[in-house]
Amino acid sequence: MNNQSSKYDCAIIGGGLAGLTLSIQLAQNGHQVILFEKNKYPFHKVCGEYISLESWDFLNSLGLPMAELSLPIINTIHVSAPNGFIIHSPLDLGGFGISRFYLDNLLFKKAKELGVTVLDNTKVLDVKQHGELYVVSTNDDSYQSKLVCGSFGKINPPFIAQQKVTEKGKYIGVKYHIKTDLPAHIIELHNFKDGYCGISKVDNDTNCLCYLTTSKNLRLHQNDIKRLEENVLYENPYLKKYFTESTFLYEKPLVISQISFEKKHTYQHGIIMLGDSAGAIAPLCGNGMSIAMRSSKILAKQIDSFLKNNISKIELIQNYTDEWNQNFSSRIKIAYYLQHLFGKKTTTYWSLKLLNYSPKLFKRIISLTHGKKF
Ligand SMILES: Cc1cc2nc3c(=O)[nH]c(=O)nc-3n(C[C@H](O)[C@H](O)[C@H](O)COP(=O)(O)OP(=O)(O)OC[C@H]3O[C@@H](n4cnc5c(N)ncnc54)[C@H](O)[C@@H]3O)c2cc1C
Repeated sequence: MNNQSSKYDCAIIGGGLAGLTLSIQLAQNGHQVILFEKNKYPFHKVCGEYISLESWDFLNSLGLPMAELSLPIINTIHVSAPNGFIIHSPLDLGGFGISRFYLDNLLFKKAKELGVTVLDNTKVLDVKQHGELYVVSTNDDSYQSKLVCGSFGKINPPFIAQQKVTEKGKYIGVKYHIKTDLPAHIIELHNFKDGYCGISKVDNDTNCLCYLTTSKNLRLHQNDIKRLEENVLYENPYLKKYFTESTFLYEKPLVISQISFEKKHTYQHGIIMLGDSAGAIAPLCGNGMSIAMRSSKILAKQIDSFLKNNISKIELIQNYTDEWNQNFSSRIKIAYYLQHLFGKKTTTYWSLKLLNYSPKLFKRIISLTHGKKF
């Protein structure tokens, strides 16, 4: 057992956007926080790296100098069907591009500056309740805390019951950073059979190219990413051009597997969940990062009230769950249905044809996937 600082107010498992932003807000309110991240900062992550502008003010409020980061502001979307039919639309709210390598590291530094104990390279192996306190065990040591929050992302760690996911509901994500000549204000979404690929600019004059497809699609190509890309993604002429005419900055892509978008829980195994751990949104709607950060804001307010003895733990969990449902349930459902519409050759083509004749409908669908500023 770690004796140096024997009891924390809150232990946070996972230092992605949800965990880091929660830790910063709690530290801003004077609470003692410990955060565990299994990787070592800075590190790359599979993500499309387009963030809805709804999160801009929030990141400023955490102390990131957003205006000084010279990030690309994205206000236009192009969407193509697998056969190359393409439509365009302005993005009313829009977004900005920033790599996770850069953003997560900025937040990591901010958390440390504010006094959060951040243990990176530290994997949480178990959480057990002992009376009023929780004991968090890592590969290195054990730590005590009044509350434990789970922001470990899409895949539950072994000490939490696994989600039952059908084979059909399993996806993989693949990401590259490339140099290409896509204008900074455009995000492109190119569909292919059983998947879609987003491309947009991030920091450092680099573009993020990231796609999602079913695990089955990869299996059908002998689990060979290159073969999958050449046989399936290249059918879309835009993707073929990007893959054959851009400079790829990694030798190999970053890949994650076993992703699913099934409903999850806000409280499980004594742990309060946020970000993707509470429910992941299909990336077609591009806003999982904003949802992760917004959930941290909702949770930080409730934890603050609990730690100041204004509400009980039961009230904390109930209030948080109610607010979570109000804010995200319908957004996640819309994304789930849109996800089923895209990636099918004919359906995607006819859906885009329809949206081409009805720009208002297209804008309406886009607005449903972006939230309000917070
Ligand atoms: C292909 C794809 C493209 C996407 N594109 C976009 C996009 O363009 N825009 C957008 O807004 N969203 C996008 N998303 C969604 C977005 O990436 C997530 O919603 C967001 O990262 C969620 O943040 P999080 O903090 O909840 O989880 P994560 O960022 O996944 O962070 C979880 C962290 O927990 C750590 N961890 C896990 N287990 C343990 C453990 N046992 N101990 C310690 N640490 C642990 C992990 O290492 C990780 O760093 C995309 C998702 C995918 C799959």
